Formats: sequence, C-alpha cells, structure tokens
Amino acid sequence: MKNADILIHGCTILPMNRKRSIENGALAVKDGRIAFVGKNASAGRIVAEAKIDAKGKVALPGLINCHTHVPMTVFRGIADDKPLNVWLDKTIWPLEARLKPEDVYNGALLGCLEMIEGGTTCFADMYFHEDEVAKAVEKSGLRGVLGEGVIEAGSSVQGEKMLARSVSFAERFRDYADGRVSAMLAPHAVYSCSPELLLKVGEEASRLGVGLHLHLGESETMLREFEKKNRLSEVEFLNKIGLLNERVLAAHCIDLSEKDMRTLSNRKVNAAYVPVANMKLGLSAAKVKDLTSLGVNVGLGTDGPASNNSLDLFETMKTGALLQKHEYLDPTVLPAYEVLKMATLNGARAVGLEKDVGSLEVGKKADIILVDLAKPHLTPLHDIYSTIVYSARAADVETVIVDGKILMQNQQARSLDEQAVMEKARKTAYDLLSR
Ligand SMILES: [Zn+2]
Repeated sequence: MKNADILIHGCTILPMNRKRSIENGALAVKDGRIAFVGKNASAGRIVAEAKIDAKGKVALPGLINCHTHVPMTVFRGIADDKPLNVWLDKTIWPLEARLKPEDVYNGALLGCLEMIEGGTTCFADMYFHEDEVAKAVEKSGLRGVLGEGVIEAGSSVQGEKMLARSVSFAERFRDYADGRVSAMLAPHAVYSCSPELLLKVGEEASRLGVGLHLHLGESETMLREFEKKNRLSEVEFLNKIGLLNERVLAAHCIDLSEKDMRTLSNRKVNAAYVPVANMKLGLSAAKVKDLTSLGVNVGLGTDGPASNNSLDLFETMKTGALLQKHEYLDPTVLPAYEVLKMATLNGARAVGLEKDVGSLEVGKKADIILVDLAKPHLTPLHDIYSTIVYSARAADVETVIVDGKILMQNQQARSLDEQAVMEKARKTAYDLLSR
C-alpha cells in the first residue's frame, strides 16, 4: 500500500510528453512531486491524505506564461488603443517612475491571483522592484522565473546601477520560496541597452549560471531603426557580441528574416510568442511556423497586463493558433495539440524548467490543473485538444496545484484572499494616478 498526499482520480489526463491521453486516469502527489500517473484501476491501493474526485474533468500540466510584467495589472485599461511609442512615452513610463515597491507588490499579487484562477502555474517576469514580485510569488504559492529589468535609456551610470541591482536580485532570489522562484538577468532590449552594458550582462549571466530574458523583434519600426543605426539586425548584433545561447528567452521575435531565425535556431535561443499584445498594438505576427520548423523552441506569453489586457493563457492559446492560421492563410498551421504543448512543455523548456515542470510525469513537480468539462460551450467532446484550445476559457479551471499544494479548489482561491487582493490593487491604481 502506497501513501500519497493527494490523489486525483476519475479524470482524463493529458500528460503532454506524448499525445495519447489517459481516460479514467489517476494522479498521485507526494512531497510536492508526481508519484503516480496512470489508470484509475491501477491506483486503487494508493492511500491519500486528500482525495479529489475529478470525474468529468481533465487534468493537464499547469500553463506556463513565458513573458510578462505582472505588476502592470495596476495599469490595466489605463491607455488603450494607442501606438506603442505613444503608449510607452506618454502613459506607462511616467507612471512607472512613480511606482513604489509596495505598489509593485500589490500589482503582482493581483496578477498572481488572476493567474491561479486561470490555470497558469508558472510565469517568466521582468520588472522593477522585482523583489516584490518574488514576495508575491512566495505568498501566492505560484512558480516564477523572475528578473530585475535593466534599462539604460542613454545613461551608462543608470545602466550600471540597474545591472548591479539585477545581479543582486539573481544572487538573492535564484532559489527562493522552496525553489519555486528562480532568476534570470533581464536586459530590457538591444535598443535600450548599449553594447558595452549588454556584454557585461552576458558576463554576469554566465558567472551566475542564469539565463537572460529580453525583448527581441518587438516591432517593425524598432527593428528598422536599429538596423539603420547599427547596420546589423537585432539578432545579428546579439550574435556578434556572443549573447545568444540556449539560456536566452527572447520575447516577441516578430518580423525576423529567415537568416535571423536560423541564427536563433543555431544558438538554441528560446522564443516567447506573444500574440494578443502584438495584435493589440497593431504589430505583425511572429512567424511561428517558420521558427518551429527551423527548430526554435517557442513558448507562449501574454506580455504585461497593460498591453494585453489580461494574463489569460487560454485566450492566448486560441488567439495564438488563429493568428498563425491567418498569417499563413492556412488552417493546418499550429494545430491545437501543438499550441497546448507550447503553453506547457515547450514553455517549461523556454524558462529553463523542463526537468521539473511542463508535463505530467512521475518525478516532476506537481503543477497540475483541472478543467471542468461539464459546460455547454465544452459539449460535445470530440477532440480533447480542440476543446481545451478553441472552446475552453480560463474560468473553466476548477482546481490548481503547484508544488503539490492546492492553490485553488472548486474555483475558490486558497492561498490568497480574493477580495482583499483586489481591493489593495484598486487602491494602488487610483493612488498612483493622484500622485
Ligand atoms: Zn514585454
């Protein structure tokens, strides 16, 4: 007789390390890890502290958001329908200059709550006062791959200062909250950091053994301007200074040449595909079909909740699949299984956590979500991957487990007080505007 902390039984399981699902399956969790995945019938002798009857539900790996700025929940809906440069210059950057650490904490906590309720169990984040994001991750029970942003904005003194902060953050938070927080260095982008600073970032990243999270190919205009000024594309430039490797997570990657995409593939760079924010800002689509066929690992991201305006990966999966079909004028591009794999296993690889999360396998960390299928918009069920990607919504997530702990059950958040978190974030947002 085996003992487990949690036994989930009676559900369909999508392990995501292979396409075949398990019908009438069971999952056991012990000491934060998955101890059993298989048929219900074979789990009969497992004795568990907590049992979850998951009949009519589907269990899948928690979704992974590969690119966001989670404290920006407080700017949600504040300046929409504007061009990227106007949005940044006139609204976002002046407001960010007024942000205090506690504002970042309150915004991050709201983002964590939203992610838990929408089935996201892990996210890659870059922002300022990232210590506060780490504390919000610790409190919420989520998993985070976090980086303190480095932006130079024409001042090398500021650049150095921010690099020192980013390094200090990585040193302090690379293994935090029982290992649920890991760290990256986060140089904002090639156009906002000088080559000298980027070289130092690269040196520090290899010294610390951490990855780099940055924006790359963010908009056509920025790409053209950079190329005109430097006579090299952003990718060529980063490759020339030796910054591209398998620990780089590059957000956006839109409008890249085939040569650039080949370079990303050769250097094993990971891309975060951010369809909703790209579309909202009227930008073009990353060529995901080309990137993946060249061998680039692609995960999914939402970008910050000020340019999306949500942290909903279900919406991102559907929109991401549709945008690719639209871009290539071909309905066969990015099928449902592939897009769910991007949101799970490929995402785990992109953030450097493939060994621990991204699929439901014995020995991996227990980051599991249950989606309730007993809904009109999920009926009838012909193909489980089509149902999850094209029909399911974040609000259909019923239970969320991270690191073997139940963060939400029967749609009730357990680690955070929903009303209190929302109230604090509301107050923070209104305070910011009156400062
Ligand atoms: Zn971003």
